Amino acid sequence: MRRVGIVGGGQLGRMLIQAGIDLDLRLRVLDGAADSPCSGIAHEFVLGSVRSATDLYEFGKDLEIVTIELEEVSVEGLRLLQGRGIHVAPAPAIVELIQDKGTQRQWYAQHGFPCPRFQLWTPGMPIELSFPLVQKARRGGYDGRGVQIAHTPSDLWPVPSVLEEYLPILKEVSVIAARNRAGEVRTFPPVESVFHPQAHIVTHLKIPADLPPDLAQEAQQLAAHLAETLRIEGLLAVELFLTTDSQWYLNEAAPRPHNTGHITVKACWTSQFEQHWRAILNLPLGETRLHTPGALVNILGPAGANGTPRFPFLEAILRLPGVSVHLYGKRKSTPFRKLGHVLLLAPDPPTLQKHLAQVQSLLQVEVEEETTQG
Ligand code: ADP
Repeated sequence: MRRVGIVGGGQLGRMLIQAGIDLDLRLRVLDGAADSPCSGIAHEFVLGSVRSATDLYEFGKDLEIVTIELEEVSVEGLRLLQGRGIHVAPAPAIVELIQDKGTQRQWYAQHGFPCPRFQLWTPGMPIELSFPLVQKARRGGYDGRGVQIAHTPSDLWPVPSVLEEYLPILKEVSVIAARNRAGEVRTFPPVESVFHPQAHIVTHLKIPADLPPDLAQEAQQLAAHLAETLRIEGLLAVELFLTTDSQWYLNEAAPRPHNTGHITVKACWTSQFEQHWRAILNLPLGETRLHTPGALVNILGPAGANGTPRFPFLEAILRLPGVSVHLYGKRKSTPFRKLGHVLLLAPDPPTLQKHLAQVQSLLQVEVEEETTQG
């Protein structure tokens, strides 16, 4: 039995535990919230800050392997563990690189990956790009927070940022790659984020992405090349943009399982979570082939309400063939918080579309409110 630690106890950790049990891993999880999705499920749950080097070191010092389920962790803590001979995957240097959107972007450009034109900017510096441009706070942003389109200099937030040319994006896809220590690399087929035609919000994800085979292959090659160049051990979720002139651009990457990879759990021969373990345990990587087309809809906390979530749609949704519900065990709903997801499989695109519409019409989370905001 291998003694393995996961830094972070959110839903990604929870699903890593599910897959880790099949490989008989003994799993210890570190998280700052006593009621996090992994508490009560991990073999051992340690309460502590993932951003504290001391907490991280104390958590992992007697383990064999330590991995992460989020990148906002103490790199110093990871390095201390590595210094003690504990196998840390992904490597602390990769986590450090990715934590800062500025160093990440610079590294991609220096290594020849296709990137938008950009500059690293701090308030007061001259702006080299023309407006509109995209501003990304170098640290701390996620799920679109910390990213904005700026139309004039006065729109810019006064924080260290990456400024990027505004690309004419046709599609946003992600490719989950995996690499093990032996250097074997595999990629899953691209997952497409489908946006609402008017509001810029993702309505669902789908696999296969709606792409000609050569473009899908190019996207997979790009992600594989990035995993190889970084020499990552474990998963690398690579977000790509396809522009209107059929060019791929690398947006960003995450060294861990990813929301877009949940589809692989039902639609592919191997799940992203199993693949992560195979990769960091230096086992042969699993077959990534798609066996059934699928879609994912996130179950989000409703706007304007905080409190205990309820899922009254469960029965109606589970009546649909090929549909499964995955709840993350979050005890508190806040506006747009990811509380779970629904996976749909269907033999053909029209059936998938029909079930998708039904799921979306049924998917209303109820909240037993503690406080109301507006
Ligand atoms: P996050 O870390 O929050 O996911 P992203 O870098 O993925 O931030 O950006 C969020 C969204 O902003 C993307 O999904 C895309 O729609 C848009 N975006 C990001 N970069 C650009 C760009 N250079 N040009 C046009 N749109 C962009």
